[in-house]
Amino acid sequence: MTVHDHFRAGRLAISFELFPPKTLAGEVKLYEQVNQLVSVAPDFITCTYGAGGSSQAKTLDIVTQVKARYGLPVASHLTVVGRSVDELRDYLRQAAERGIDYIVALRGDPPQGAGRFVPASGGLQYANELVTLIRREFPQFGVFVAGYPETHREAPSPQADLENLKRKVDAGADAVITQLFYNNDDYFRFCERCRAVGIHSPIVPGILPITNGQQIHRLTSLCGARLPKHLARRLAERDDPDWQLAVGIEWAVQQTRELIDAQVPGLHFYVLNQSLATLRIVQETEIVALRGD
Ligand SMILES: Cc1cc2nc3c(=O)[nH]c(=O)nc-3n(C[C@H](O)[C@H](O)[C@H](O)COP(=O)(O)OP(=O)(O)OC[C@H]3O[C@@H](n4cnc5c(N)ncnc54)[C@H](O)[C@@H]3O)c2cc1C
Repeated sequence: MTVHDHFRAGRLAISFELFPPKTLAGEVKLYEQVNQLVSVAPDFITCTYGAGGSSQAKTLDIVTQVKARYGLPVASHLTVVGRSVDELRDYLRQAAERGIDYIVALRGDPPQGAGRFVPASGGLQYANELVTLIRREFPQFGVFVAGYPETHREAPSPQADLENLKRKVDAGADAVITQLFYNNDDYFRFCERCRAVGIHSPIVPGILPITNGQQIHRLTSLCGARLPKHLARRLAERDDPDWQLAVGIEWAVQQTRELIDAQVPGLHFYVLNQSLATLRIVQETEIVALRGD
């Protein structure tokens, strides 16, 4: 199976993103969640790397376990933060030995407290360089890269950010997964602008169902995504977690339906180890029946 097989015309690929839990109890809960997620036959499962200070060795363990237990294709995220090229090579070698299918190749964010990103000694500066390294030395991996419908926070302009995305695709990325967004028009406009600069790879929308009103304000401000005013108002109507979960699911269901109608190549759900919301969305939008297998 290659990345292109998932996104061939007429199919709707589904992928789920997990993160490495910090505790044993969290890990037990994670596999309970994955047990449920696999019931809707996702195309592949990804696991973040180092995001929010999470353990990097755990990423490899989780994707290895998911592949062994469920036989699904898996993707390890990998960032260049704090890693020399030799250390990145070492990680990629281990991933290859374990039969990991894909890499989500990223620069990563500066460590907490550090104002701006500084490459590690003997390391890389931008994600396109990591894509080049993978393509040159580990051609067996499928490669995803990140795209930003609302423009990456550090980019000097939307056009400069698009040119960067093009560099990543030209370096050999197979597909783009987008940052989360809550207004589909941002995604549709982004796809048009990508096509206009010659990016023709699949651009997979990233969906983060809101499960908690406070958490989403923190997350969107961290990643630079906008919360539409109408959605923020609805979430604030009641200081009640059940209400906020219901509003979050309702919004994500509408967003997902519209994206499916627009014939997106796939849907990447930021599950954040909370399978309930994602599964409700998959069920309510009847994605499984629509997948075209
Ligand atoms: C799908 C997805 C998954 C993610 N998973 C993780 C994860 O697992 N762990 C984690 O820590 N973070 C993760 N992130 C967050 C990501 O690491 C951050 O958004 C990070 O700030 C940028 O990473 P990037 O790969 O997009 O960087 P890059 O593509 O390198 O871009 C970084 C910035 O530099 C600019 N730039 C790039 N190349 C050049 C150049 N040649 N000259 C000038 N400017 C340039 C870009 O426009 C952008 O502003 C993920 C994001 C997404 C969308």
